Amino acid sequence: MRLMPSRPWQHSISRLAGWLFLCAVSGALLGSFWIGLSAGLAAALGWNYWQLHRLLSQLSGRRRLQAPQGWGVFSEVAARLFQRQREARQRKRRLHALLRTFRTAAASLPDAILVVSEGQLEIEWFNEAAVRLLGLRPRDDIGKRFTHLVRAPRVSDWLASGAAEPLLDLPSPIDANRRLSLRLIDYTTRQRLLVVRDISMLMHLEQVRRDFVANVSHELRTPLTVVHGYLDMLEPDEHPEWAGLLREMRTQSARMTQIVEDLLTLSRLEAQERAIEDPVDMRSQLASLNREAEALSNGRHRIVVTESCDMDLHGSSKELHSAFSNLVSNAVRYTPDGGRIEIRYSCDDQGRPRLAVIDSGQGIPAQHLPRITERFYRVSNSRSRETGGTGLGLSIVKHVLNLHQGHLDIHSEVGQGSEFACVFAASRGIVRDSDASEAA
Ligand code: ADP
Repeated sequence: MRLMPSRPWQHSISRLAGWLFLCAVSGALLGSFWIGLSAGLAAALGWNYWQLHRLLSQLSGRRRLQAPQGWGVFSEVAARLFQRQREARQRKRRLHALLRTFRTAAASLPDAILVVSEGQLEIEWFNEAAVRLLGLRPRDDIGKRFTHLVRAPRVSDWLASGAAEPLLDLPSPIDANRRLSLRLIDYTTRQRLLVVRDISMLMHLEQVRRDFVANVSHELRTPLTVVHGYLDMLEPDEHPEWAGLLREMRTQSARMTQIVEDLLTLSRLEAQERAIEDPVDMRSQLASLNREAEALSNGRHRIVVTESCDMDLHGSSKELHSAFSNLVSNAVRYTPDGGRIEIRYSCDDQGRPRLAVIDSGQGIPAQHLPRITERFYRVSNSRSRETGGTGLGLSIVKHVLNLHQGHLDIHSEVGQGSEFACVFAASRGIVRDSDASEAA
């Protein structure tokens, strides 16, 4: 590193003054002081221009600057430029190294990462795992739309619904045995990150679990039917001392049968990819829910049905009814006598059909709400068992709604009551034919 004078201006000016003094004295000795001084000035000017020219020609090329030699202002300017250029080069080298590390890391990731444009999802960059999992071609597929390369109705539905949650269990376009999960993450204001993960192993384990539950439930069904049958044949009048025992055995065997039936229903729902797409008459659903609520309540509650949505639904009548009646049954079971239960069918402000069951019952503490739809999750075990609950009702509701591209909205306040609302996508609604509905 060159040692720089601490005060280049001072140094330059003193050098110039010395030079001019020398020229003036030489001029005076040779006969003309002024000619000597003018020649000295002209030489100093020429020298400065020459330095300026050298500096400019170094800067105008994209060449690496030479380490400056000498003293003075020009050397100082050149030294600072040289230092700036060296720092910029070092920064560039560091960034290159960082970029290389990032690319190597991204390339060796087991998950496929795609940078796509906001809106059209045009592919801007992807790593090597995207070639392996999605069959993308590094040269040809940059700039193409993701939905043109991965054509699956589930992907389009997922994107249309906002892709807020990851899309699970999508078969890979190049190997149907490979199951993928897709997640769309906001990245910059005009780009999004699509992360594709191979979840084949997870799906396999999930399938093993489902098969196990389905098989166990199925195997339990026959012996339970036999036990139930024999219990029904036993007459308590013949053995009055067994009456209490028999009653308890019948209750427990009915409960177990109901658990097995609910587990089989859940297994069936889980195995299904999509719901049946029949028109579901919501008026007759409401009428039958009203009848069921009255029968279950047996006059203990005030039951109200309100309807302000003139739409029916696309879906499976049987499955939707099972979901709605689970909510109604819960409302009756968890609302003390004298309470109010409302079955309200309406369209929300986004035109989505919404069936809500609102009760004035005991309510659910907020900390239980995130887990309430898990299998066998109960807030109070005793109340659930006393009233014949299996702990699977809300799980069934959630699965039915998933199959119908709907979701369950739960609001509850302890001591005030609860609202369980099934909200469906607007596209699920069928506007009723006004003539037909008037005639009905
Ligand atoms: P269960 O058969 O036990 O009722 P569910 O899955 O239907 O099972 O419900 C899970 C738990 O959620 C219930 O055990 C109960 O604690 C709570 N729950 C469900 N619905 C209501 C309701 N309307 N009011 C208060 N608690 C409820």
